[in-house]
Amino acid sequence: MDFIDLKSQYAALRDNINSRIQAVLDHGQYILGPEVEEMEAALVAYSGAKHCISVASGTEALLICLMALDLQPGDEVITSPFTFAATAEMIVLAGGVPVFVDIEADTANIDATLIEAAITAKTKAIMPVSLYGQVADMDVINAIATKHGLAVIEDAAQSFGATYWGAPTSASTPAAPRGGAPALGRPGGGPGKKSCNLSTFGCTSFFPSKPLGCYGDGGAIFTSDDRLAQACREIRTHGQSQRYLHTRLGVGGRMDTLQCAVVLGKLDRFSWEIERRLALGDAYARKLQAAAPDLQRLAVRGDRDCVWAQYTVFVDDRDAVQARLKQAGVPTAVHYPRPLHHQPAYARYAQPESCPHSVAAASRVMSLPMSADLTDAQQDQIVSALAGALR
Ligand SMILES: *Cc1c(COP(=O)(O)O)cnc(C)c1O
Repeated sequence: MDFIDLKSQYAALRDNINSRIQAVLDHGQYILGPEVEEMEAALVAYSGAKHCISVASGTEALLICLMALDLQPGDEVITSPFTFAATAEMIVLAGGVPVFVDIEADTANIDATLIEAAITAKTKAIMPVSLYGQVADMDVINAIATKHGLAVIEDAAQSFGATYWGAPTSASTPAAPRGGAPALGRPGGGPGKKSCNLSTFGCTSFFPSKPLGCYGDGGAIFTSDDRLAQACREIRTHGQSQRYLHTRLGVGGRMDTLQCAVVLGKLDRFSWEIERRLALGDAYARKLQAAAPDLQRLAVRGDRDCVWAQYTVFVDDRDAVQARLKQAGVPTAVHYPRPLHHQPAYARYAQPESCPHSVAAASRVMSLPMSADLTDAQQDQIVSALAGALR
């Protein structure tokens, strides 16, 4: 069993992906070829954001957004310490200072109620991470940002395809429930808004194991602000506003045409994959509740879904549980074993005893195999192996 099954996905999409790649080899426009704009247009349609700027990776997406905000040395960006290092890494690389705010113990996302107390005169942006595929409290975060004149950058590397309904407003009319049986953690009304289209910027990654992956590195920035979109496009190609006119500092941050072709080849099945991920997440919850009722699962808020980039649970004595699962043929992983303020490179930005929920989560989280191609039988095997390992 693979932790993330990319082979079955390729088998299902083989002709599609092969012909997309072959088309690039035939036309030979390897940099900013037609597939780049085609993919960006497809992702604009999917996300609902006005602009999509494809970039070299999810990490590059975060950097380019921060550069587009014209971050000055010492400017502060509020984020979670319980994330992949790139989130804080790009804040520092852009000249900023990461200000770590603790997570909620049950969702592992930034605790929006703690954000306002962390705002200072130097705060420039809030960077929530949509960890494991569930967005944070974006309505609350956006309201705080508006009040204080801050930008919001969603690190949506794990959540492309996720939906957020948010608190109902008087303007929204409830619509019919979405197709299929009502699922755990999913409200009935309206189409909602997609992750990446919830704030000033949304940044995603096409790293192969992410919910929408390519066959190498890739990423994208989403925004509905014309000026910021133009800034990102210029920064992506060395700050050029025209060929060989470098009006600002930029990077070499383009996404290869070949990788855009792979994403296009995968998009035909993507809506099905998201539905399958949601169903597998609901099934994990149901099966684990029956087989291991004491196990702490990730909470999913009622006004949003989770696309389960990782299906993560909380366990005590994690090393032993992982070892037993490995013996039973079930691979697991830890996302992430240390909060960033306990990493040598970022320890200077917070006291070690701060953010206690992040510290606790780092010692307890464990991710189970997850991908749209995980079979029901495999999932049953994982659940019974985990129930056995916990006994
Ligand atoms: C994967 C990931 C990134 C980085 O994306 P790359 O495409 O690998 O550069 C950033 N933030 C989070 C939360 C991630 O999971």
